[in-house]
Amino acid sequence: MKLSATGYGITLPDWVSDALSDVPEVIPDRADRMRLVHALADRNWREGNGGPFAALVAETATGRIVSVGVNVVLASGISSAHAEVTALGTAQQALGTWDLGGADQPEHELVVNWRPCVQCYGATLWSGVRTLAVAGSGPELEEITTFDEGPMRDDWAAQFEERGIRVIDPLLREEALEVFRSYRDAVDADAVVVYNARSDA
Ligand SMILES: [Zn+2]
Repeated sequence: MKLSATGYGITLPDWVSDALSDVPEVIPDRADRMRLVHALADRNWREGNGGPFAALVAETATGRIVSVGVNVVLASGISSAHAEVTALGTAQQALGTWDLGGADQPEHELVVNWRPCVQCYGATLWSGVRTLAVAGSGPELEEITTFDEGPMRDDWAAQFEERGIRVIDPLLREEALEVFRSYRDAVDADAVVVYNARSDA
């Protein structure tokens, strides 16, 4: 047989670089990091790249931004191209390591505009980050956006903590819900594609 693909890649949309051109390389306040995530999440769905989700990886102590990610499932045609996976992968590419918590690394954190889905839960666990900051974690994301986050454990945060990953929740929660509601309004107006597989199930 001859394989028609021997690899795949996830690339950030061009507008992300434009959006970051005025953003400082160091954002000392974590709430300001989350504000950037919310802004990227809101623009992402409006650009048609994927869902209203964004993330970034930063050095916890300094606030230096290592990477950002947005959900590019629609733009890439790859179902796993969620914001967390994109941010973690580009951070690991930038630093040249699969372990963001390696002995020669400063502590890194992942900042996301809601609790990760079941896929990104695992991706976060294996990434080496030492802190996960989420805007919120309740059922509102699924209720408002209709995305299926998968069978998450009720003790998801405790599982992170047991593995040395501190969880900060909530952080600018209402701002996250505003992004989700704007997205939902567009869904109800048939202005965007909801890409959940098995969405007729
Ligand atoms: Zn995810």
